[in-house]
Amino acid sequence: MVGSGFTGLEMAAELRDRLRAVAAPHGAADEVRVVLLERDTAIGPGLGAGPRPVIAEALDRLGVETVLGATVAAVTEDTVRLTDGTRIPARLVVWTAGMRAHPLTEQIPAARDRLGRLAVDAYLRVDGVPQVYAAGDTAAATAEPGRVVMQSCQHAIPLCRHAGHNAAADLLGAPQTVFAPAPYVTCMDLGGAGAVFTTGWERTVALAGAEAKTLKRNITERWIYPPVHDAPELMRQADPGYVNGGSERADRDALVASRTANQRYSQPCWGPARSRISSSLEREFFRIGLRLPRCAAYGPPVRRAVRPYAMR
Ligand SMILES: Cc1cc2nc3c(=O)[nH]c(=O)nc-3n(C[C@H](O)[C@H](O)[C@H](O)COP(=O)(O)OP(=O)(O)OC[C@H]3O[C@@H](n4cnc5c(N)ncnc54)[C@H](O)[C@@H]3O)c2cc1C
Repeated sequence: MVGSGFTGLEMAAELRDRLRAVAAPHGAADEVRVVLLERDTAIGPGLGAGPRPVIAEALDRLGVETVLGATVAAVTEDTVRLTDGTRIPARLVVWTAGMRAHPLTEQIPAARDRLGRLAVDAYLRVDGVPQVYAAGDTAAATAEPGRVVMQSCQHAIPLCRHAGHNAAADLLGAPQTVFAPAPYVTCMDLGGAGAVFTTGWERTVALAGAEAKTLKRNITERWIYPPVHDAPELMRQADPGYVNGGSERADRDALVASRTANQRYSQPCWGPARSRISSSLEREFFRIGLRLPRCAAYGPPVRRAVRPYAMR
């Protein structure tokens, strides 16, 4: 496994047990090795220190070998060669070292970040090309002050809600919505060692092990799927207001009115309506004491619920 970002870590944690199960009937379970190569000197360098102890313990428990400070120079049919000359025999190599925005973004005459994503304003219009909107993995939008969105479903989905709405509003001369995603959280699967759920950009561990695994299972097996056979519900969930805890237009308009065109918003500000997320997830956040931001303009603090499918 090359790269210990989210994808490499999740795959490494999952693969060893799966490969052992496949090899066992052939008496070859003990021949299975999963080796995780990371160029940095720490596991999951992009994730920060918060979840690292949980991840390291999980990899250890699962028997995943980690090689840090390892830069891959070449991959051949049966070997991975590192820049220091080390050769690691490999029947399968999984490359998870980095994501990029689709190269179609290069056709738009605008600034792009190091991931190839287009710079956009608070309404998701491409900077300098206002007739083009960007969303999902192609948009380098501001998630909150000083933080740019991640290439993740958690951000891709609300980006698409807002960009779709704003493109239509643009054509119709209707009010646009300012992009304002839910507070950042992550939930990483760790195979047989459970999962780890973090909150905030520092990725503070809020749940680990079996509890986090239950949450991850709900995300990947239930909540992530849009109601494709229920058109009215699909449209309801496509509304940008749905992300902000309800589709109350007045709420959204007040938010928009508080910010001038092209201005990136200066503080997280959540609508007062309760979110329509599943009550089980809401209970879960309450149980772990997740405190959610308040918006002074809207009066008393509200429990800002995180989108159920969120999580990376
Ligand atoms: C292995 C992996 C695991 C991940 N796990 C998670 C996770 O657990 N949680 C999470 O939040 N995020 C996860 N992500 C990230 C998440 O999948 C992306 O952020 C999200 O899918 C981005 O959505 P998108 O619509 O922008 O792009 P995509 O989902 O990539 O959709 C783009 C679509 O456009 C199509 N397309 C491309 N070129 C053209 C063209 N020229 N014409 C027409 N169609 C075209 C593609 O086929 C594709 O269907 C993961 C990503 C990967 C690769």
